[in-house]
Amino acid sequence: MSDRPVLLGAVADDFTGATDLAALMARAGLSVSLRIGVPKGDPVSDADCEVVALKIRTEPVKQAVTEAQAALDWLQAIGAGTFFWKYCSTFDSTATGNIGPVAEAMMAQLNCDQTVYCPSFPENGRTVFQGHMFVGEDLLSDSPMRNHPLTPMTDSSLLRLLAPQVTKPVGLVNRRTVSSGIAEVQEQLRQLKNDGCQHIILDAINDDDLNVLGAAIASLKLITGGSAIALPLVRALSGATGSRRQTDDNAPIDNTPLILSGSCSAMTRRQVARFAASHAALQLNPLDLAKDGAALQQAKHWLGSQPPGSAKMIYATAEPDEVKQAQSQLGRDKAGQLVEDALAELAQTALQTGHRRFVVAGGESSGAVTKALAVDQLRIGKEIAPGVPWTFARTGKFDIALALKSGNFGDETFFEQALEVLQQ
Ligand code: ADP
Repeated sequence: MSDRPVLLGAVADDFTGATDLAALMARAGLSVSLRIGVPKGDPVSDADCEVVALKIRTEPVKQAVTEAQAALDWLQAIGAGTFFWKYCSTFDSTATGNIGPVAEAMMAQLNCDQTVYCPSFPENGRTVFQGHMFVGEDLLSDSPMRNHPLTPMTDSSLLRLLAPQVTKPVGLVNRRTVSSGIAEVQEQLRQLKNDGCQHIILDAINDDDLNVLGAAIASLKLITGGSAIALPLVRALSGATGSRRQTDDNAPIDNTPLILSGSCSAMTRRQVARFAASHAALQLNPLDLAKDGAALQQAKHWLGSQPPGSAKMIYATAEPDEVKQAQSQLGRDKAGQLVEDALAELAQTALQTGHRRFVVAGGESSGAVTKALAVDQLRIGKEIAPGVPWTFARTGKFDIALALKSGNFGDETFFEQALEVLQQ
Protein backbone atom coordinates (compact mmCIF):
# COMPACT_ATOMS: atom_id res chain seq x y z
CA MET A 1 0.00 0.00 0.00
CA SER A 2 1.27 3.51 -0.77
CA ASP A 3 1.51 6.13 1.99
CA ARG A 4 -1.34 8.13 0.48
CA PRO A 5 -4.56 6.26 -0.19
CA VAL A 6 -6.25 6.32 -3.56
CA LEU A 7 -9.59 8.17 -3.57
CA LEU A 8 -11.39 5.96 -6.05
CA GLY A 9 -10.57 2.55 -7.48
CA ALA A 10 -12.54 1.49 -10.57
CA VAL A 11 -13.03 -1.72 -12.51
CA ALA A 12 -14.08 -1.14 -16.15
CA ASP A 13 -15.66 -3.81 -18.34
CA ASP A 14 -13.91 -2.74 -21.55
CA PHE A 15 -10.91 -0.81 -22.73
CA THR A 16 -12.31 2.32 -24.37
CA GLY A 17 -14.87 2.51 -21.54
CA ALA A 18 -11.95 2.65 -19.11
CA THR A 19 -10.37 5.54 -21.03
CA ASP A 20 -13.72 7.33 -21.12
CA LEU A 21 -14.12 6.94 -17.33
CA ALA A 22 -10.55 8.06 -16.70
CA ALA A 23 -11.08 11.16 -18.86
CA LEU A 24 -14.16 12.18 -16.88
CA MET A 25 -12.35 11.74 -13.55
CA ALA A 26 -9.40 13.76 -14.84
CA ARG A 27 -11.79 16.65 -15.59
CA ALA A 28 -11.96 17.14 -11.82
CA GLY A 29 -8.24 18.01 -11.94
CA LEU A 30 -7.15 14.78 -10.23
CA SER A 31 -4.35 12.48 -11.29
CA VAL A 32 -5.71 9.31 -12.88
CA SER A 33 -3.87 6.12 -13.69
CA LEU A 34 -5.26 3.45 -16.01
CA ARG A 35 -4.00 -0.13 -15.84
CA ILE A 36 -4.42 -2.52 -18.73
CA GLY A 37 -5.47 -5.68 -16.93
CA VAL A 38 -4.72 -6.39 -13.27
CA PRO A 39 -1.17 -5.20 -12.48
CA LYS A 40 1.29 -7.96 -11.66
CA GLY A 41 3.89 -6.30 -9.42
CA ASP A 42 3.63 -4.79 -5.94
CA PRO A 43 0.29 -3.09 -5.27
CA VAL A 44 1.37 0.56 -5.23
CA SER A 45 -0.12 3.69 -6.71
CA ASP A 46 0.75 7.37 -6.67
CA ALA A 47 -2.47 8.50 -8.37
CA ASP A 48 -5.70 9.90 -6.92
CA CYS A 49 -7.80 7.53 -8.99
CA GLU A 50 -6.96 4.11 -10.43
CA VAL A 51 -8.89 2.41 -13.22
CA VAL A 52 -8.31 -1.25 -14.08
CA ALA A 53 -9.37 -1.94 -17.67
CA LEU A 54 -10.73 -5.43 -18.28
CA LYS A 55 -12.45 -6.92 -21.32
CA ILE A 56 -15.37 -8.73 -19.67
CA ARG A 57 -18.55 -7.18 -21.07
CA THR A 58 -19.54 -10.29 -23.00
CA GLU A 59 -17.46 -12.89 -21.18
CA PRO A 60 -19.29 -15.78 -19.46
CA VAL A 61 -20.56 -14.61 -16.05
CA LYS A 62 -18.19 -16.78 -13.99
CA GLN A 63 -15.13 -15.58 -15.87
CA ALA A 64 -16.23 -11.93 -15.65
CA VAL A 65 -16.78 -12.21 -11.89
CA THR A 66 -13.39 -13.87 -11.32
CA GLU A 67 -11.55 -11.18 -13.28
CA ALA A 68 -13.45 -8.36 -11.58
CA GLN A 69 -12.67 -9.86 -8.16
CA ALA A 70 -8.96 -10.00 -9.02
CA ALA A 71 -9.07 -6.33 -10.05
CA LEU A 72 -10.91 -5.46 -6.84
CA ASP A 73 -8.31 -7.37 -4.78
CA TRP A 74 -5.65 -5.17 -6.29
CA LEU A 75 -7.62 -1.96 -5.75
CA GLN A 76 -8.15 -2.93 -2.11
CA ALA A 77 -4.45 -3.72 -1.75
CA ILE A 78 -3.48 -0.20 -2.91
CA GLY A 79 -5.83 1.17 -0.26
CA ALA A 80 -8.58 2.71 -2.39
CA GLY A 81 -11.28 4.26 -0.21
CA THR A 82 -14.27 4.02 -2.59
CA PHE A 83 -14.88 1.61 -5.45
CA PHE A 84 -16.56 1.92 -8.84
CA TRP A 85 -17.87 -0.66 -11.31
CA LYS A 86 -17.98 0.90 -14.78
CA TYR A 87 -20.11 -0.43 -17.63
CA CYS A 88 -21.56 1.15 -20.75
CA SER A 89 -23.91 4.13 -20.51
CA THR A 90 -26.46 2.11 -22.49
CA PHE A 91 -26.33 -0.65 -19.86
CA ASP A 92 -24.99 -3.11 -22.48
CA SER A 93 -25.57 -6.55 -21.17
CA THR A 94 -26.34 -9.95 -22.60
CA ALA A 95 -29.41 -11.94 -21.40
CA THR A 96 -27.15 -13.61 -18.82
CA GLY A 97 -25.52 -10.21 -18.27
CA ASN A 98 -22.51 -9.45 -16.14
CA ILE A 99 -23.51 -6.11 -14.65
CA GLY A 100 -25.52 -7.55 -11.73
CA PRO A 101 -23.35 -10.56 -10.89
CA VAL A 102 -20.15 -8.48 -10.86
CA ALA A 103 -21.86 -5.85 -8.67
CA GLU A 104 -23.01 -8.52 -6.19
CA ALA A 105 -19.57 -10.14 -6.09
CA MET A 106 -17.94 -6.76 -5.45
CA MET A 107 -20.53 -5.97 -2.73
CA ALA A 108 -19.79 -9.27 -1.01
CA GLN A 109 -16.02 -8.66 -1.18
CA LEU A 110 -16.46 -5.13 0.19
CA ASN A 111 -18.98 -6.26 2.78
CA CYS A 112 -21.62 -3.71 1.79
CA ASP A 113 -25.36 -4.21 1.56
CA GLN A 114 -26.45 -1.54 -0.91
CA THR A 115 -25.14 -0.13 -4.17
CA VAL A 116 -26.46 2.21 -6.87
CA TYR A 117 -26.66 2.02 -10.68
CA CYS A 118 -26.20 5.30 -12.53
CA PRO A 119 -25.54 4.79 -16.26
CA SER A 120 -26.92 8.21 -17.28
CA PHE A 121 -24.60 10.32 -19.50
CA PRO A 122 -26.65 13.42 -20.47
CA GLU A 123 -23.76 15.04 -22.42
CA ASN A 124 -23.92 12.04 -24.78
CA GLY A 125 -27.74 11.85 -24.85
CA ARG A 126 -28.16 8.93 -22.42
CA THR A 127 -30.70 9.67 -19.69
CA VAL A 128 -32.70 7.63 -17.19
CA PHE A 129 -36.26 8.58 -16.20
CA GLN A 130 -38.60 6.47 -14.03
CA GLY A 131 -36.02 3.71 -14.34
CA HIS A 132 -36.18 3.74 -18.15
CA MET A 133 -33.16 4.43 -20.32
CA PHE A 134 -33.40 6.89 -23.20
CA VAL A 135 -30.92 7.39 -26.06
CA GLY A 136 -31.60 10.91 -27.30
CA GLU A 137 -35.41 11.11 -27.49
CA ASP A 138 -35.88 7.37 -28.01
CA LEU A 139 -36.31 4.61 -25.50
CA LEU A 140 -33.22 2.38 -25.48
CA SER A 141 -35.32 -0.41 -27.04
CA ASP A 142 -36.22 1.86 -29.99
CA SER A 143 -32.63 3.03 -30.52
CA PRO A 144 -30.02 1.40 -32.79
CA MET A 145 -28.86 -0.50 -29.67
CA ARG A 146 -31.74 -2.91 -30.25
CA ASN A 147 -29.71 -4.30 -33.18
CA HIS A 148 -26.30 -4.44 -31.52
CA PRO A 149 -24.55 -7.63 -32.69
CA LEU A 150 -23.35 -8.70 -29.22
CA THR A 151 -25.61 -6.99 -26.69
CA PRO A 152 -29.00 -6.20 -28.29
CA MET A 153 -31.05 -4.03 -25.89
CA THR A 154 -34.75 -4.74 -26.43
CA ASP A 155 -36.06 -3.60 -23.03
CA SER A 156 -35.62 -0.06 -21.69
CA SER A 157 -36.53 -0.74 -18.06
CA LEU A 158 -33.32 -0.95 -16.05
CA LEU A 159 -35.27 -2.52 -13.18
CA ARG A 160 -36.48 -5.34 -15.43
CA LEU A 161 -33.01 -5.74 -16.99
CA LEU A 162 -31.22 -5.88 -13.66
CA ALA A 163 -33.68 -7.97 -11.57
CA PRO A 164 -32.86 -11.35 -13.19
CA GLN A 165 -29.12 -10.65 -12.87
CA VAL A 166 -29.11 -10.26 -9.08
CA THR A 167 -30.30 -12.24 -6.05
CA LYS A 168 -31.65 -9.31 -3.96
CA PRO A 169 -34.48 -6.82 -4.69
CA VAL A 170 -34.03 -3.90 -7.08
CA GLY A 171 -35.38 -0.41 -6.29
CA LEU A 172 -35.51 3.08 -7.80
CA VAL A 173 -34.67 6.62 -6.69
CA ASN A 174 -36.77 8.54 -9.19
CA ARG A 175 -36.30 11.98 -10.71
CA ARG A 176 -38.80 13.59 -8.35
CA THR A 177 -36.60 12.63 -5.41
CA VAL A 178 -33.36 13.57 -7.20
CA SER A 179 -34.75 17.02 -7.97
CA SER A 180 -35.61 17.45 -4.28
CA GLY A 181 -31.94 17.34 -3.28
CA ILE A 182 -29.11 15.45 -1.61
CA ALA A 183 -30.78 14.84 1.75
CA GLU A 184 -33.95 13.45 0.10
CA VAL A 185 -31.92 11.05 -2.04
CA GLN A 186 -30.01 9.84 1.01
CA GLU A 187 -33.24 9.41 2.98
CA GLN A 188 -34.80 7.37 0.20
CA LEU A 189 -31.70 5.16 -0.04
CA ARG A 190 -32.02 4.52 3.72
CA GLN A 191 -35.71 3.61 3.39
CA LEU A 192 -35.01 1.29 0.48
CA LYS A 193 -32.25 -0.36 2.49
CA ASN A 194 -34.68 -0.90 5.40
CA ASP A 195 -37.04 -2.56 2.91
CA GLY A 196 -34.23 -4.91 1.88
CA CYS A 197 -33.51 -3.24 -1.49
CA GLN A 198 -29.80 -3.65 -2.22
CA HIS A 199 -29.68 -2.62 -5.89
CA ILE A 200 -30.90 0.90 -6.58
CA ILE A 201 -31.35 2.40 -10.05
CA LEU A 202 -30.86 6.20 -10.09
CA ASP A 203 -32.81 8.50 -12.40
CA ALA A 204 -30.81 11.38 -13.92
CA ILE A 205 -31.75 13.47 -16.94
CA ASN A 206 -29.17 16.26 -16.76
CA ASP A 207 -25.86 17.24 -15.18
CA ASP A 208 -27.62 18.97 -12.26
CA ASP A 209 -29.15 15.62 -11.34
CA LEU A 210 -25.71 14.01 -11.53
CA ASN A 211 -24.27 16.70 -9.26
CA VAL A 212 -26.96 16.00 -6.62
CA LEU A 213 -26.38 12.26 -6.93
CA GLY A 214 -22.57 12.52 -6.83
CA ALA A 215 -22.78 14.28 -3.47
CA ALA A 216 -25.56 12.00 -2.16
CA ILE A 217 -23.78 8.70 -2.87
CA ALA A 218 -20.17 9.65 -2.10
CA SER A 219 -20.34 7.87 1.26
CA LEU A 220 -21.23 4.49 -0.32
CA LYS A 221 -18.45 1.92 -0.54
CA LEU A 222 -19.40 0.78 -4.06
CA ILE A 223 -20.94 2.84 -6.84
CA THR A 224 -21.76 1.43 -10.28
CA GLY A 225 -22.53 3.22 -13.53
CA GLY A 226 -21.34 4.91 -16.69
CA SER A 227 -18.54 7.44 -16.76
CA ALA A 228 -20.57 10.64 -16.27
CA ILE A 229 -21.42 10.14 -12.57
CA ALA A 230 -17.70 9.72 -11.85
CA LEU A 231 -16.99 13.45 -12.29
CA PRO A 232 -19.35 14.75 -9.55
CA LEU A 233 -18.47 11.71 -7.46
CA VAL A 234 -14.72 12.36 -7.42
CA ARG A 235 -15.40 16.07 -6.90
CA ALA A 236 -17.40 15.15 -3.80
CA LEU A 237 -14.74 12.69 -2.63
CA SER A 238 -11.83 15.09 -3.14
CA GLY A 239 -13.79 17.93 -1.54
CA ALA A 240 -14.23 15.76 1.54
CA THR A 241 -10.54 14.91 1.85
CA GLY A 242 -8.93 18.22 0.89
CA SER A 243 -6.50 19.04 -1.89
CA ARG A 244 -5.06 16.28 -4.01
CA ARG A 245 -2.30 15.89 -6.55
CA GLN A 246 -2.89 17.84 -9.71
CA THR A 247 -3.08 16.05 -13.03
CA ASP A 248 0.19 16.05 -14.88
CA ASP A 249 -1.44 16.61 -18.20
CA ASN A 250 1.25 17.91 -20.44
CA ALA A 251 4.23 15.72 -19.74
CA PRO A 252 6.99 16.70 -22.21
CA ILE A 253 7.05 14.12 -24.98
CA ASP A 254 9.18 14.40 -28.13
CA ASN A 255 7.11 15.83 -30.92
CA THR A 256 7.17 13.14 -33.60
CA PRO A 257 3.54 12.27 -34.21
CA LEU A 258 1.93 9.40 -36.08
CA ILE A 259 -1.76 8.77 -36.62
CA LEU A 260 -2.79 5.15 -37.13
CA SER A 261 -6.37 4.46 -38.12
CA GLY A 262 -8.03 1.06 -38.36
CA SER A 263 -11.54 2.34 -37.73
CA CYS A 264 -14.03 2.38 -40.62
CA SER A 265 -16.79 4.11 -38.62
CA ALA A 266 -18.57 7.00 -40.30
CA MET A 267 -16.97 9.71 -38.14
CA THR A 268 -13.47 8.27 -38.51
CA ARG A 269 -13.88 8.23 -42.30
CA ARG A 270 -14.61 11.96 -42.23
CA GLN A 271 -11.69 12.61 -39.84
CA VAL A 272 -9.27 10.62 -42.03
CA ALA A 273 -10.42 12.34 -45.24
CA ARG A 274 -9.97 15.75 -43.68
CA PHE A 275 -6.52 15.06 -42.25
CA ALA A 276 -5.28 13.32 -45.44
CA ALA A 277 -6.23 16.38 -47.50
CA SER A 278 -3.49 18.47 -45.88
CA HIS A 279 -0.93 15.99 -44.47
CA ALA A 280 1.22 13.08 -45.60
CA ALA A 281 -0.98 9.99 -45.55
CA LEU A 282 -0.66 6.39 -46.69
CA GLN A 283 -3.53 3.94 -47.13
CA LEU A 284 -3.17 0.24 -46.34
CA ASN A 285 -5.32 -2.25 -48.19
CA PRO A 286 -5.94 -5.66 -46.59
CA LEU A 287 -5.96 -7.31 -50.04
CA ASP A 288 -2.37 -6.08 -50.60
CA LEU A 289 -1.36 -7.02 -47.05
CA ALA A 290 -2.65 -10.55 -47.69
CA LYS A 291 -0.39 -11.10 -50.76
CA ASP A 292 3.09 -11.05 -49.25
CA GLY A 293 5.15 -8.80 -46.99
CA ALA A 294 5.76 -6.19 -49.71
CA ALA A 295 2.90 -3.83 -48.79
CA LEU A 296 4.00 -3.70 -45.17
CA GLN A 297 7.65 -3.17 -46.17
CA GLN A 298 6.60 -0.31 -48.43
CA ALA A 299 4.65 1.26 -45.59
CA LYS A 300 7.70 1.04 -43.30
CA HIS A 301 9.84 2.59 -46.00
CA TRP A 302 7.29 5.37 -46.50
CA LEU A 303 7.28 6.03 -42.75
CA GLY A 304 11.09 6.29 -42.71
CA SER A 305 11.13 8.67 -45.69
CA GLN A 306 8.95 11.36 -44.07
CA PRO A 307 10.65 14.53 -42.77
CA PRO A 308 11.55 14.18 -39.06
CA GLY A 309 8.96 15.72 -36.75
CA SER A 310 6.26 15.95 -39.41
CA ALA A 311 2.71 14.79 -38.70
CA LYS A 312 1.72 11.78 -40.81
CA MET A 313 -1.02 9.19 -40.99
CA ILE A 314 -1.25 5.53 -41.97
CA TYR A 315 -4.80 4.26 -42.32
CA ALA A 316 -6.77 1.25 -43.43
CA THR A 317 -9.98 3.23 -43.02
CA ALA A 318 -12.15 2.61 -46.07
CA GLU A 319 -15.69 3.08 -47.37
CA PRO A 320 -18.20 0.28 -46.64
CA ASP A 321 -18.07 -1.13 -50.21
CA GLU A 322 -14.25 -1.43 -50.08
CA VAL A 323 -14.48 -3.09 -46.67
CA LYS A 324 -17.10 -5.52 -48.01
CA GLN A 325 -14.89 -6.36 -50.98
CA ALA A 326 -11.91 -7.15 -48.73
CA GLN A 327 -14.11 -9.14 -46.39
CA SER A 328 -15.72 -11.18 -49.17
CA GLN A 329 -12.29 -12.19 -50.50
CA LEU A 330 -10.49 -12.71 -47.20
CA GLY A 331 -13.24 -13.29 -44.64
CA ARG A 332 -14.20 -10.68 -42.05
CA ASP A 333 -11.88 -11.85 -39.30
CA LYS A 334 -8.84 -12.31 -41.54
CA ALA A 335 -9.26 -8.87 -43.14
CA GLY A 336 -9.50 -7.28 -39.69
CA GLN A 337 -6.57 -9.26 -38.31
CA LEU A 338 -4.31 -8.34 -41.25
CA VAL A 339 -4.99 -4.66 -40.66
CA GLU A 340 -4.55 -4.88 -36.89
CA ASP A 341 -1.28 -6.83 -37.25
CA ALA A 342 0.03 -4.30 -39.77
CA LEU A 343 -0.87 -1.33 -37.56
CA ALA A 344 0.75 -3.08 -34.58
CA GLU A 345 3.99 -3.72 -36.48
CA LEU A 346 4.07 -0.20 -37.88
CA ALA A 347 3.62 1.19 -34.37
CA GLN A 348 6.67 -0.80 -33.22
CA THR A 349 8.72 0.43 -36.20
CA ALA A 350 7.57 3.98 -35.54
CA LEU A 351 8.65 3.74 -31.90
CA GLN A 352 12.09 2.49 -32.90
CA THR A 353 12.42 5.32 -35.46
CA GLY A 354 11.73 8.09 -32.97
CA HIS A 355 7.94 8.52 -32.98
CA ARG A 356 6.65 9.37 -29.52
CA ARG A 357 3.11 10.68 -30.06
CA PHE A 358 0.55 8.21 -31.32
CA VAL A 359 -3.09 8.83 -32.15
CA VAL A 360 -4.98 5.59 -32.80
CA ALA A 361 -8.51 5.40 -34.21
CA GLY A 362 -10.62 2.31 -33.55
CA GLY A 363 -11.36 0.31 -30.41
CA GLU A 364 -9.86 -2.99 -31.63
CA SER A 365 -7.10 -1.13 -33.43
CA SER A 366 -6.23 0.72 -30.20
CA GLY A 367 -6.02 -2.62 -28.39
CA ALA A 368 -3.65 -4.02 -31.03
CA VAL A 369 -1.37 -0.95 -31.01
CA THR A 370 -1.30 -0.63 -27.22
CA LYS A 371 -0.35 -4.30 -26.93
CA ALA A 372 2.37 -3.95 -29.59
CA LEU A 373 3.82 -0.95 -27.76
CA ALA A 374 3.95 -3.08 -24.58
CA VAL A 375 2.17 -0.49 -22.47
CA ASP A 376 0.59 -1.60 -19.21
CA GLN A 377 -0.17 1.70 -17.48
CA LEU A 378 -1.52 4.96 -18.85
CA ARG A 379 -1.61 8.28 -17.00
CA ILE A 380 -4.52 10.41 -18.10
CA GLY A 381 -3.93 13.89 -19.49
CA LYS A 382 -5.95 16.54 -21.27
CA GLU A 383 -9.21 15.62 -22.93
CA ILE A 384 -9.24 16.14 -26.71
CA ALA A 385 -12.96 15.40 -27.19
CA PRO A 386 -15.52 14.14 -24.63
CA GLY A 387 -14.26 10.75 -23.46
CA VAL A 388 -10.96 10.84 -25.41
CA PRO A 389 -7.97 12.05 -23.40
CA TRP A 390 -4.28 12.14 -24.22
CA THR A 391 -2.59 9.50 -22.11
CA PHE A 392 1.06 9.10 -21.14
CA ALA A 393 2.99 5.89 -20.78
CA ARG A 394 6.46 4.43 -20.50
CA THR A 395 7.54 1.63 -22.80
CA GLY A 396 11.04 0.26 -22.32
CA LYS A 397 13.22 3.36 -22.08
CA PHE A 398 10.82 5.66 -23.93
CA ASP A 399 8.13 8.05 -22.70
CA ILE A 400 5.26 8.21 -25.13
CA ALA A 401 1.87 9.87 -25.51
CA LEU A 402 -1.13 7.93 -26.80
CA ALA A 403 -4.61 9.09 -27.77
CA LEU A 404 -7.01 6.19 -28.25
CA LYS A 405 -10.27 7.03 -30.00
CA SER A 406 -13.14 4.67 -30.49
CA GLY A 407 -14.97 4.82 -33.83
CA ASN A 408 -17.59 7.53 -33.53
CA PHE A 409 -15.94 9.79 -30.94
CA GLY A 410 -14.74 13.28 -31.76
CA ASP A 411 -15.74 15.62 -34.58
CA GLU A 412 -14.27 15.99 -38.07
CA THR A 413 -11.24 17.95 -36.85
CA PHE A 414 -10.32 15.39 -34.18
CA PHE A 415 -6.83 14.52 -35.48
CA GLU A 416 -5.76 18.17 -35.85
CA GLN A 417 -7.21 18.92 -32.41
CA ALA A 418 -5.37 15.97 -30.89
CA LEU A 419 -2.00 17.23 -32.17
CA GLU A 420 -2.78 20.80 -31.13
CA VAL A 421 -3.79 19.90 -27.59
CA LEU A 422 -0.30 18.51 -26.89
CA GLN A 423 1.37 21.69 -28.24
CA GLN A 424 -0.47 23.92 -25.77
P1 ADP B 1 -14.25 1.06 -34.44
O1 ADP B 1 -13.92 1.61 -33.08
O2 ADP B 1 -14.56 2.11 -35.45
O3 ADP B 1 -15.28 -0.07 -34.39
P2 ADP B 1 -12.18 -0.96 -34.58
O4 ADP B 1 -10.71 -0.77 -34.67
O5 ADP B 1 -12.71 -1.45 -33.25
O6 ADP B 1 -12.89 0.40 -35.00
O7 ADP B 1 -12.69 -2.02 -35.65
C1 ADP B 1 -12.46 -1.86 -37.00
C2 ADP B 1 -12.08 -3.23 -37.56
O8 ADP B 1 -12.08 -3.13 -38.98
C3 ADP B 1 -10.68 -3.65 -37.15
O9 ADP B 1 -10.66 -5.03 -36.86
C4 ADP B 1 -9.85 -3.36 -38.40
O10 ADP B 1 -8.72 -4.18 -38.50
C5 ADP B 1 -10.85 -3.65 -39.49
N1 ADP B 1 -10.54 -2.94 -40.76
C6 ADP B 1 -9.95 -1.74 -40.87
N2 ADP B 1 -9.83 -1.39 -42.16
C7 ADP B 1 -10.37 -2.38 -42.89
C8 ADP B 1 -10.54 -2.61 -44.28
N3 ADP B 1 -10.12 -1.70 -45.18
N4 ADP B 1 -11.12 -3.75 -44.69
C9 ADP B 1 -11.54 -4.64 -43.78
N5 ADP B 1 -11.42 -4.51 -42.43
C10 ADP B 1 -10.82 -3.39 -41.99
